[in-house]
Amino acid sequence: MNSVARLFDLLCDPRMPYFIPCVKLKRRRGKTLSDAEIPSESPLLVALTFDVEYDFGSSAKEASADAVEPFLHQLPALAREIQAVFTLFVQGDLVGRYGELLLNLQSSHEIGLHGYAHELWGKARWFLPHKPVSYKSRRGLLRRSLKNFTDNKLAPPVSFRAPDLVANADTLRLLEEHGFLVDSSAPVYRGTLPLPARSLGPSSPILSIPITAAPVPRIHLRYLLPFTAYEVFNMAWLATTSDQQLLDFVAEVVSFQIQNGAKPHLVFLAHPWEFRECTGEKRLGYCSEDNYELLRRKMQLLKGRYQLQYVGMKELAHTLGNE
Ligand SMILES: [Zn+2]
Repeated sequence: MNSVARLFDLLCDPRMPYFIPCVKLKRRRGKTLSDAEIPSESPLLVALTFDVEYDFGSSAKEASADAVEPFLHQLPALAREIQAVFTLFVQGDLVGRYGELLLNLQSSHEIGLHGYAHELWGKARWFLPHKPVSYKSRRGLLRRSLKNFTDNKLAPPVSFRAPDLVANADTLRLLEEHGFLVDSSAPVYRGTLPLPARSLGPSSPILSIPITAAPVPRIHLRYLLPFTAYEVFNMAWLATTSDQQLLDFVAEVVSFQIQNGAKPHLVFLAHPWEFRECTGEKRLGYCSEDNYELLRRKMQLLKGRYQLQYVGMKELAHTLGNE
């Protein structure tokens, strides 16, 4: 049954070659956008977010989280250097293990939730072997996670990001019932626009704020066929992107947001395991302790062009939701 659901998901993936005509239409619309610039006195809101999870997330071969503790120890120094506020989306089952470190970070940073043990909070995805978790189980996992926060003297989380960016409307309603205000689970790699939205309707307290992705898709050839791809503002992309590409990407995002009536903002994603060397897998070759310095340098680059204002996701939702 799960394999049928995964095949269906593959066929419906908007990046497939047969969706190219729709993508081209979107692209043409994107090209007509003029370059709107951020007024000099207006800030560019920046949320630096880290998903604190098992090493390598859903690709984990075992439930180890060796990268987490050294990463949490490094964060205060990084925050001081770039004078930033961070949001940590922490797996519910890891909250107790790092309770003391999280409690110390909570005074300056926001602690949100990243599922319980990196399970699926929505439909099957073709590239993931996991089975979706039932509604009843999700409710149980959410309550266990919230209990772990309380037991470790942490404030109840109000921001959520689903593992693998998989969440459905039932999950959003569960979050709403349990006091959440922000969801950052939109599947941006499939083309979610970099704009806030109230997915459950205008009266819902939950604001969806996606990780930032390019509003205009790129086309690339694979197996001699054209596939769509969206640049996502995450560590893998940042580590393999030139300074000029980063500046162009941010200018494109900011221009799009201004023209769509949203305050300019960026949501960046990284994981603890991306800040330590990973030998063996070529696709993880960018993972390195040098990424602390790389992130610091790229933020300095943006600071030279924009008036950066670092915010947690809760504060970002408050600012964007009141527009
Ligand atoms: Zn994750």
